[in-house]
Parts: sequence; C-alpha cells; structure tokens
Amino acid sequence: MSLFSRNGNGRIPLDYHMHSNVSCDSEATMPQMCRSALDKGIHEIAFTEHFDLVPGDEGAYYYKPDVYFSLLETARELFAPEGLTIRAGVELGEFHRYADVMQPVLDAYPYDFVLGSLHWVGNDTIFDERYFQREAADDVIPAYFTELLAMVRHGGFDVLAHADVFKRTAYRVYQHYDITEWEDWVRPVWQACIEGGIGIEINAAGMRHTVKQYHPSLEGLRWYREMGGELLTLGSDGHRPEHVGFCLTDALELARAAGFTRVCTFERRQVAQWIEI
Ligand SMILES: [Zn+2]
Ligand SMILES: [Zn+2]
Repeated sequence: MSLFSRNGNGRIPLDYHMHSNVSCDSEATMPQMCRSALDKGIHEIAFTEHFDLVPGDEGAYYYKPDVYFSLLETARELFAPEGLTIRAGVELGEFHRYADVMQPVLDAYPYDFVLGSLHWVGNDTIFDERYFQREAADDVIPAYFTELLAMVRHGGFDVLAHADVFKRTAYRVYQHYDITEWEDWVRPVWQACIEGGIGIEINAAGMRHTVKQYHPSLEGLRWYREMGGELLTLGSDGHRPEHVGFCLTDALELARAAGFTRVCTFERRQVAQWIEI
C-alpha cells in the first residue's frame, strides 16, 4: 500500500481511541467493538486501553498487557478477513510520573500507537466535581495546562489524548468553557507537541457530555495547525459498541475547517499512512 491514500466517499478513515473490557471502565468485548466499527464502515481502529498507576485511580494497576495482546490477536484473526486493521494501542495515564514502570512495558510488547493522557493534577482527579468547586477556574485550568505541558515535554508517547479533557467536569461546575480564553496556556502545549514530534487527536467524548465540545474545539485545532502541527488522529474514546465512530464524520469536517487536509495512521509507533480527508 502506498504511503498516501484517499479517503473515499466521506467515510470515517479510522477510530484510534477506544476501550474494551481490558479497561476497568468498559464492559464491551473487543469483537463487539470490532463489529460496530465494520457496521459503520470503519476499517482501521486502535484499542487504547487504560494503563493507570495513580493511587486512587479506579484503574490503578488494572492493566494486564499479556491479557490485552492475547485478546487482540484473537480479534485480529477474527476480523482481518473482513478487512479490519486493528492497531495495538494503549492510553498511558501521567506517563511523566510513571515512566520508570511504564517504559519497560512499552519496550516489551509490539505496540503500534501510544496515547499520553492527563487525568490527574497532583493528587486531584479532574473527573471529580469537588476539585472544581473548591478552586477557581483561574487556578484550576492553568494548573492543568501546566502539568500537561510538563507531560508533553517529558514525551515518550505518540499522540496527546483529549487535550482539554478536564472541561467535561469543569463545564458542569462553571457552566462555561471557551478555549479562546486559554490560548496563552494551550499554545505552549502545542509548541511542545510539535517540537517533540507528538501528534494530537480530535476526541469526540466531550460530545457525549454536557459541554458538547470536542477535545479540543475548532480554535484549538486551528492554532495547532497554524503553528505547523500536522500529526492528527481521530478518536471516539468509545467505551461501548454504540460509541465507536461517534461524531467522527463531523470531526472530519472540524479538521478540514481547522486547515487539516489529512490524518495519519500508526504502525509500530511510526506514522504508517497519511489519509487525505
Ligand atoms: Zn482518557
Ligand atoms: Zn480513553
């Protein structure tokens, strides 16, 4: 296959962020997620299971790479005949804090695609409304982006997951989130991504929450593109079969509106293909 391919007839080219029951917060089997992808005309997916180590995280020490790769191989054998490419992914939580434990796992297994995620700021999970109730937006949001910048500068992953994921919870507390108010905090994160060869994703999970925004929204994507950012993937962050591909047709529109002409796929942690959108 050539390095470039054209995405015909508006199809969703990939869904590179989803969870099966290898993650603590999903009950879906890999075959159920694969079937849903094919039903939606998606022919390339990545299972990006949670690998979390923060004490207090519901998924701390839940991740079992042996189990993951065994189930992944079974799913690949089942669905390859139907034309589904399944990438071996992982969603690393707070890699900059746990690289000493996580890196040996990355080295020991044949991963295709590694997401870096920030779900915690210090000892606070950004999924807890009480954190946002206790603090002002002017403190919490810069603190998130400061830690995110530290994580990106540390590097070691391929794509930064859901760059402003905290807004799902923040929006419920503050009834407001507009990325343009945080431009001075977001741009340094993008700069560090670009310098470190780290991509970003359009993550649709925010569209399933009250905030009803992608992570990140249009302006954030536009800044990254204007600054020279090219590496882009799409992810539903689905935890159920019906989530697969969720809002990704519109995410392609968003990507185009932000100035992107292509998204990329990964194999063995290298860009495998650029797909025109
Ligand atoms: Zn996440
Ligand atoms: Zn996820």
